[in-house]
Amino acid sequence: MAKGKVLLVLYEGGDHAKQVPELFGCLENELGIRKFVEDNGYELVSTSDKDPEPNSKVDKELADAEIVITTPFFPAYITKTRIEKAPKLKIAITAGVGSDHIDLNAANEKKITVAEVTGSNVVSVAEHVLMTILVLIRNFVPAHEQAISGKWDIAGAAKQEFDLEDKVISTVGAGRIGFRVLERLIAFNPKKLYYYDYQELPASAIKQLNDVSKILNGRDDIIERVESLEEMVSKSDVVTINCPLHEKSKGLFNKALISKMKKGSYLVNTARGAICIEDDVAEAVNSGHLAGYGGDVWFPQPAPGTHPWRSMKNPYGGGNAMTPHVSGTSLDAQARYAAGVKDILKEYFDGTHNYRPQDIIVIDGDYSTKAYGQRTKK
Ligand code: NAD
Repeated sequence: MAKGKVLLVLYEGGDHAKQVPELFGCLENELGIRKFVEDNGYELVSTSDKDPEPNSKVDKELADAEIVITTPFFPAYITKTRIEKAPKLKIAITAGVGSDHIDLNAANEKKITVAEVTGSNVVSVAEHVLMTILVLIRNFVPAHEQAISGKWDIAGAAKQEFDLEDKVISTVGAGRIGFRVLERLIAFNPKKLYYYDYQELPASAIKQLNDVSKILNGRDDIIERVESLEEMVSKSDVVTINCPLHEKSKGLFNKALISKMKKGSYLVNTARGAICIEDDVAEAVNSGHLAGYGGDVWFPQPAPGTHPWRSMKNPYGGGNAMTPHVSGTSLDAQARYAAGVKDILKEYFDGTHNYRPQDIIVIDGDYSTKAYGQRTKK
């Protein structure tokens, strides 16, 4: 008789899982944790059958699960109703970073711990942000389409192709990913870097950015904190979103805020799809107010075939740098978050609950992080 049930929800890997055993994040390879879970006396049930609520295998299995492990890339939405129907649930672990797919307030009501593998893919995402900015500003996609379709129309690609050098670039959120994005941008000699975050970057981080800028660009005044989001977006050629999804960031980039963005600027979002209003973004790209939008996050996931971000294009036929949710799931990242999930499970199974503090999102009925909105402690 097992001590309890661990429910693991992952996307299907199919033949890819057989070809590449390091694809730990897919259903077939189960984060490499089956033996570990069973050796600890628990049953492991893994599935990709997560939608629709309440008729999926997730709904059936969650009813008596003690631990649920989910991933942001193929999120099982652990809603309030699902939580209410899971009386044995003690801990929800996110294989990755970003636990907004779990109703955190409902988890608090039931004193369910929510933990994630903080830091596991922040470099992976920062690299994807840089790539997406370059893909957009260099007008890569239309040029690549020409290359593979036998065309050679230099003017058609170059008419909306710019350098990143000397542009104003800003981030909404300057945590682990936002900071790494800023750090990497300095090498491109931007005119200015701005950040908007209710948590100030430490003086040492500001000094580090300015020192690197001094070495690379001969200027030590590269970075500035901005109090007004509207003001920041109105001054920026590129805005990148790097904050968690919570009550205050949901729908933040709506028609009103996007209308304040510079005409012909770019928006990059690898944080969460629901931070942007999908139709407002698509309209801004299709009309040319935004020269482009890119990222890898959508709502819901998987995104329906009709999602407007799949087909939007600026009036010149470019400006779409969307991918499925892959930025934080490089093979390097998968190895790190699979190991991190195992570490969290070990603490749980041992009964020590001596988790890394940075991994805990909510515990004992309250938020343990300052990243999911400004809150007053209970
Ligand atoms: P972090 O906790 O280190 O930093 C988040 C920062 O955002 C914090 O400084 C916080 O104060 C700030 N913030 C929160 N709400 C804000 C708001 N409304 N406006 C401005 N700033 C705000 O987190 P991180 O590791 O940098 O990750 C950030 C987010 O990126 C995650 O929560 C997740 O949603 C997303 N993410 C995506 C992927 C991916 O694969 N696409 C992978 C990892 C993380």
